Amino acid sequence: MIPVLGYEGLKVAVLGLGRSGLATAAALAAGGAEALCWDESPEVRTSAEAAGHRLHDLGRADAWEGVAALIVSPGIPHLYPAPHRLIARAMAAGIAVDNDIGLFFRSWATGDWDQFDVTPKCVAVTGSNGKSTTTALIHHILQAAGRPTQMAGNIGRGVLDIDPASEAEVVVLELSSYQTELARALTPDVAVFTNLTPDHLDRHGGLGGYFAAKRRLFAEGGPDRAVIGVDEAEGVFLADQLATGPEDDRVIRVSSGQKLGAFGWSVFARKGFLAEWRKGRQLASVDLRAIAGLPGAHNHQNACAAWAACRALGVPPREIEAALASFAGLPHRSQTVAEAGGVRFVNDSKATNVDSAAKALQAFPRIRWIAGGLGKEGGIAALAPHLGAVAKAYLIGHSARDFALDLGATPQEICETMERAVERAAAEAEPGDVVLLAPAAASFDQYANFEKRGEHFVALVKARLGLA
Ligand code: ADP
Repeated sequence: MIPVLGYEGLKVAVLGLGRSGLATAAALAAGGAEALCWDESPEVRTSAEAAGHRLHDLGRADAWEGVAALIVSPGIPHLYPAPHRLIARAMAAGIAVDNDIGLFFRSWATGDWDQFDVTPKCVAVTGSNGKSTTTALIHHILQAAGRPTQMAGNIGRGVLDIDPASEAEVVVLELSSYQTELARALTPDVAVFTNLTPDHLDRHGGLGGYFAAKRRLFAEGGPDRAVIGVDEAEGVFLADQLATGPEDDRVIRVSSGQKLGAFGWSVFARKGFLAEWRKGRQLASVDLRAIAGLPGAHNHQNACAAWAACRALGVPPREIEAALASFAGLPHRSQTVAEAGGVRFVNDSKATNVDSAAKALQAFPRIRWIAGGLGKEGGIAALAPHLGAVAKAYLIGHSARDFALDLGATPQEICETMERAVERAAAEAEPGDVVLLAPAAASFDQYANFEKRGEHFVALVKARLGLA
């Protein structure tokens, strides 16, 4: 745990008692603050109390007396579409509103660091897609290279839950736009921006607000190195704004598809090969095509971003190359779950929107595509240009019929359930085909979350192949 500094003897309110909220309350207490814990849900309150946290009803008229700060969970709106009433109340009273990320950055470095020969470093990853994969890949490469490292944030553990830094350690954080928008301190040594596509617009008052939230990671503390995906206008803008000129190698430009050798420092993938260029010279060339854990151009973008971040931390190219080959991929993201009779089964249950499904559909040559669930506004009409590899679609869930209409002439079958979709797709698959779950829809009509949906797919595939 990282004890929170700066609030010794003071009252700090904590709103939202999920994983990160509980870790925050414990870290505040460890730093000598009094944590006043609250959650709107009675069930969550009961389990927080059972875990030993003292509750404090922040809705009461006298609840805020002497409160120095309010720490909120990322799921609770602080501005758009409307601020939560308790956050609005704190802000109106001039109480500092922050989150666990802000507390982490002000508390992580301590006097103990004076004894270290090599100072710990923090890498923070943000962007619309690929954050978890890139974060996990950086962590994996560092581990494989024998560097002490911990991973936290939007992935796995709350940031305040990690162990205090050790000599030469690298902490790798995945940060969502909600987290970067609110944190009052944001000072990673290396900051990574993967890409930007419209998402969560209701929480940020539109695309401009969403981009502004992510940009804070680069503006507030000024990282030593910025790794920027430049395949969208926003990334090009950000890289241009941060660099003094094209040769400035504090900005490492990353692309999947474009040649960027003319810049001071760049890492890009083309036709399945990753290249690193620095000061006009090519330093590395790596074949990514055979890496099972990183299929498709979108994962090659993630590989380039992770490569760049690790190079910025001084890991040699040969060690990164060896580590890429052993990356197994994360569950539910382009995850190969089985291969039988020349047919590969891939679980991309995390492809909950059209954009991530489009990437998955471009990653394989011939696809039996399982899609559907609770579709998003606009359906899947926007996928029309990416259906070339789809041999047939097997549609499930609430939006199956709407998706069928959007698919037009693409071969298709309404299966309703995952059971039927797996059975039909596996029965019709020919050697060389990929049976791909990439739903382009939320899971909530049939499952508790995308993880449960992916697990169901994996269990059905394994049972069918006799692997269970
Ligand atoms: P995030 O943490 O940003 O949601 P993930 O790594 O969990 O990103 O991937 C989420 C979804 O997006 C998955 O379906 C995955 O296959 C897809 N994806 C992964 N990397 C990228 C990328 N660089 N660009 C677009 N889509 C991606």
